[in-house]
Amino acid sequence: MEKRRLYMDYSATTPVKKEVLDEMMPYLTDYFGNASSFHTFGREAKNALDKARGQVANLINAKPNEIYFTAGGTESDNWAIEGVAYANKAKGNHIITSKIEHHAVLHTCEYLEKYHGFEVTYLDVDSEGKVDLKQLEESIKDTTILITIMFANNEIGTIQPIKEIGEIAKAHKVLFHTDAVQAAGNINIDVKELNIDLMSMSSHKIYGPKGIGALYIKAGTKLHTFVHGGAQERRRRAGTENIPSIVGYGKACEIAKANMDNHIASLTKLRGKLIDGILKNIPYTTVNGSLENRLPGNVNFGFEFIEGEGILLMLDMLGIAASSGSACTSGSLDPSHVLMAIGLPHERAHGSLRLTVGDFTTEDDIDYIIENLPPVIERLRSMSPLYDQIKNKNK
Ligand code: PLP
Repeated sequence: MEKRRLYMDYSATTPVKKEVLDEMMPYLTDYFGNASSFHTFGREAKNALDKARGQVANLINAKPNEIYFTAGGTESDNWAIEGVAYANKAKGNHIITSKIEHHAVLHTCEYLEKYHGFEVTYLDVDSEGKVDLKQLEESIKDTTILITIMFANNEIGTIQPIKEIGEIAKAHKVLFHTDAVQAAGNINIDVKELNIDLMSMSSHKIYGPKGIGALYIKAGTKLHTFVHGGAQERRRRAGTENIPSIVGYGKACEIAKANMDNHIASLTKLRGKLIDGILKNIPYTTVNGSLENRLPGNVNFGFEFIEGEGILLMLDMLGIAASSGSACTSGSLDPSHVLMAIGLPHERAHGSLRLTVGDFTTEDDIDYIIENLPPVIERLRSMSPLYDQIKNKNK
C-alpha cells in the first residue's frame, strides 16, 4: 500500500493552486519582458504588474499605489520597521512590539537596539497570547515612533485586537505596523477600518508562490527605502520585478478574496472536528491559545508528559506532516518563545504540536489523525515515569 501523505502544516507554507500556476506560466515564457522596458514586451509585463497590484490591494481594501511588492514577509517586516525607524529618528527612538512576534520582527527590533541606539519595549501577552491594551497605552512615550504588533500568531493562531491597537496608535500619533503574514488572505482585513499604517503580507501562506509578498504602506507614510537601486516600485523598492511570482500572488489574492467566507467556514469546521476528536480521545491535553480569537486553520495542542519532537517523528512515519512549537532548527532545544510568553512551563511547552488545516484538507484527513494520534501519544507517554505514576495513582 502506498504511504499516505497528509499535509497538516499550512501555516508553514501552502501548495500553489492550479489556477495560480496557470496564470503564472505564460509570464515565464511568452511574456517574459522587463516591466521597466519601453517596448511591447515591457508593457505586457507592466500591465501584469499593475493588475496584480490591484488584486493585492483589493484583498485588504487598500489603494493599488499603497502596495509595494517585496521578496516576502520577512523583507516586508524588515523594511517596515527599519524604514520607519530611520525616517523618524529625529522624532524619537522608541519602538513597541510584543514578545510573541515572528523572528522577522523580533530580530529586526533587536538589531535596531544593538546597533542603532533604538529602545524597544516588548509587551507581555496573556495566557491566550493577547497583548494587554492598557500596558500598550502606558508604554507609549514622547519618543515612541512605531507600534509593531502581529495580526495573528503563526504558532498558536491568536488574533490580536488590531482595531483597538490601531485606535490607540492613531490617538497618540504613532505609526502602526502589523505583520499579517498569517492573516492576510486567511481572514477578512480592511486596513482603512483598522487604522493600519503598514502591513506585511506573504504569498506562500495563501496558495501563491514562495519568495514574494508585499508591504502595504498607507499613502503619505514616511519611511526610508530598504533596497536601493533602480526606480522600481515608485523608487521605494529597487530590483527588476519578479513578474511570474507577482502575477501568481495577485491571482492567489483574488481567489482568497472571492472564497473568503467559504474558506473560513470550512477550515473552522475541520478545526473544530479535530479539536473535539483529540480532546475526547487523549487525556491530559489542552489547546494552546484562544478558542475564540483564532486563525480558522490553526490548532496547537499541548500534551502533558511528552516531547514534541518525538510526536513529529512518529507522525512523519505515518505520513502526517506537522510542526512543533520548539525552535530546534538552530540545534538548540529551546522551547518556543511564544509558548513561554503565554506562561507555559518548559515541559509543557515541549509537548506542543501545531496542526494547521487548509483548503485541501478533508474530513477523512481529520478522521485519520483522530484515529492515529492517540496511540502515538500513548506510546510516547509510556516512556515517561511521571505519566506512569499518575496512571497508577488513578487506577
Ligand atoms: N511573519 C510571520 C507571522 C510568519 O508566519 C512568517 C513565515 O512563517 C513570516 C513573517 C516570514 O514570511 P516569509 O516566509 O514570506 O518570509
